[in-house]
Amino acid sequence: MKTIPLPYFNERPCQIDTIVIHCLAHDLIGAINSFHEHQVSSHYLIDENGKIYRFVEDDKRAWHAGVSFWKGCSNLNDCSIGIELCSKSFGQSLYPLKQIKSLMRLLKKLKYRYHIKKERILAHSDIAPMRKADPGKAFDWKYLARHNLGVWYQIKNAGFVCENDEQSLLAKIGYDTTDFKAAKCAFVRHYMGEFVANDTLERLLKQPFDTPLHIDQLYFLSVLKARAYCEK
Ligand SMILES: [Zn+2]
Repeated sequence: MKTIPLPYFNERPCQIDTIVIHCLAHDLIGAINSFHEHQVSSHYLIDENGKIYRFVEDDKRAWHAGVSFWKGCSNLNDCSIGIELCSKSFGQSLYPLKQIKSLMRLLKKLKYRYHIKKERILAHSDIAPMRKADPGKAFDWKYLARHNLGVWYQIKNAGFVCENDEQSLLAKIGYDTTDFKAAKCAFVRHYMGEFVANDTLERLLKQPFDTPLHIDQLYFLSVLKARAYCEK
């Protein structure tokens, strides 16, 4: 792992309990230029060959999440580690296996070191659904969950759930549902990526909440119920 220090961080006010996964449509150099331009940072970046770079020490608060919310907590920068993935397609097409394997090794290490629960490994789009679409619909959350690095669902569990209110179900998982359409879009991106239309980079960056979803409403509700009560 190579360290390239960036000055965009401050002190953490609390302990680490979350990991946020991002993507950037840049290579390493482009990413660093973009960080300087916007005065932001992440703790790590993994390029498409699986090489890992560190910009900020874990115990410092990097500036990667911005305005964010999950399960009653806002300002996720306080408690999270941010990992950027280089992705030319901005998460619209599958990530290279080499890159995912490196990510999984890093996630395992961090999860063990900081006792991070698997349900606290999140997408930037999960915690900022009105503003962000990364790491995108092609990020394979199911594969990660199979290795205990995230949460998935069993569709059969939907049958045991009486709750039918989509907004309450999204809020139970952790989403900010102030903008219901955005929260729904973020959920579909994470758990049903195959039903998310391809979109242009410009729209993904400016209107992530407005990507067309080709989804059957009843099926969506079943997946939502199964995920919200995935511990059943
Ligand atoms: Zn991001």
